[in-house]
Amino acid sequence: MQNTDVTIVGGGSAGLTLALLLARQQLRVVLVEKGPAPADAAPDLSQEYQRVSALNMASRNLFQQLGIWPQLLAGAAAYTDMQVWEADSFAKIGFSAVEQQLEALGYICDNEHIRQLLYRQLQQYSNVQCYFDVAISQLKQGEREVMLQLDNSELILSQLLVGADGVNSFVRQHMQLPLTHWDYQHTAIVAKIRCTEPHQLTARQVFLNSGPLALLPLPEPDLCSIVWSAETAEAGRLMALDDTAFNQALCAASQAVLGPVALVSERQTFGLTMRYASSWQRGRVVLVADAAHSIHPLAGQGMNLGLMDVAALAQLISEQREAGDDIAAPKMLRRYERWRKAEAQSMIVAMEAFKRGFTAKPALLKLLRGAGLVAADKLPWLKQQLMAHALGLKGDLPDIVKKPLNVTGPLADA
Ligand SMILES: Cc1cc2nc3c(=O)[nH]c(=O)nc-3n(C[C@H](O)[C@H](O)[C@H](O)COP(=O)(O)OP(=O)(O)OC[C@H]3O[C@@H](n4cnc5c(N)ncnc54)[C@H](O)[C@@H]3O)c2cc1C
Repeated sequence: MQNTDVTIVGGGSAGLTLALLLARQQLRVVLVEKGPAPADAAPDLSQEYQRVSALNMASRNLFQQLGIWPQLLAGAAAYTDMQVWEADSFAKIGFSAVEQQLEALGYICDNEHIRQLLYRQLQQYSNVQCYFDVAISQLKQGEREVMLQLDNSELILSQLLVGADGVNSFVRQHMQLPLTHWDYQHTAIVAKIRCTEPHQLTARQVFLNSGPLALLPLPEPDLCSIVWSAETAEAGRLMALDDTAFNQALCAASQAVLGPVALVSERQTFGLTMRYASSWQRGRVVLVADAAHSIHPLAGQGMNLGLMDVAALAQLISEQREAGDDIAAPKMLRRYERWRKAEAQSMIVAMEAFKRGFTAKPALLKLLRGAGLVAADKLPWLKQQLMAHALGLKGDLPDIVKKPLNVTGPLADA
């Protein structure tokens, strides 16, 4: 039997980041992951498909504080420009890092590379124990502790248990924390492509009638990762195409902005569902990141949101300890829940507005959309507000992210 302070179920980006944040506070931490440990070798982004995420400035600051940023940046694409437009319309808007006096607008990072670097850092702490390739056989909540039994017969007693186990969270289901969800009726096709024209470190997104298509630059100048979200029937049709026909469809959909393109990986699909747990905590159990909420990937904010959840939770735990209080006190967990629910809700509403706004087909709406985007493109104040949200500089940020922001230039007052 093992006694610990915090048990984290799930070793994705959120679970590993939380483990590291708590390890630095000298807490005893156990992390339980049903999959394998991250590999030692850095992934080769020019090889087969790997999932990537656009990280914003707030997440960059978090990883900087955790000491993994230089290595992560070395394998990432720091994009300096962003172009968003609507197909068959004059609607378009552009953003540039130079305009905002920033080094980049965001960073396309490999998900597995993030996990590897976090895990490597975590291995330096003797107060952390990680179990990989294990399943949970029992989870029971008592008044003073939570009991977790693993299928390797390990028994773990902890003061606090965190569910960081993703969209189909076992912890959320086991604790019967109610979930609101709706199907976006979109499926995302993700793949890696080689382009004829260099991407010039520009992230591009075109809104098509059936949904948004994102072309995200990778470190090689002619490699991009695509996230093509389409109505599910249309995604099925695209998936049924052979590679040559798919390449042609992709080139046409992107209006040949990067010239003819060719798949260099298989295509993977993700059904898109909005999920939002109406309760994030019960007793000594609390949810973070995708276990608590999942959103449409059109603005690339899901991971960023989850990372801010764990930074917020770690901050409140630290404050409890400084005050000599229980690290799973209901009052503190409710405070965490209120704080992060507010941020998640505004993101869910924004994603829905974007999705509905851009998929509304009547001609008049299309005209208004076009006029709105063109006007926004010419209004520096409005652009700065939009940009500050995308960079993760808005809202109630955890301290660890705020401290090193040091944003100067026009965004400082946005
Ligand atoms: C197509 C697509 C594109 C996206 N692009 C972006 C983007 O550009 N930017 C961005 O910020 N976000 C993006 N996201 C969202 C982002 O991928 C997720 O928000 C993020 O990966 C969630 O991290 P997590 O740690 O909460 O969950 P996960 O990464 O799902 O990790 C959960 C972990 O828990 C483990 N687990 C599950 N059940 C158990 C169990 N019973 N016991 C033990 N372990 C368990 C799993 O094996 C997994 O390792 C995108 C999502 C999609 C679908």
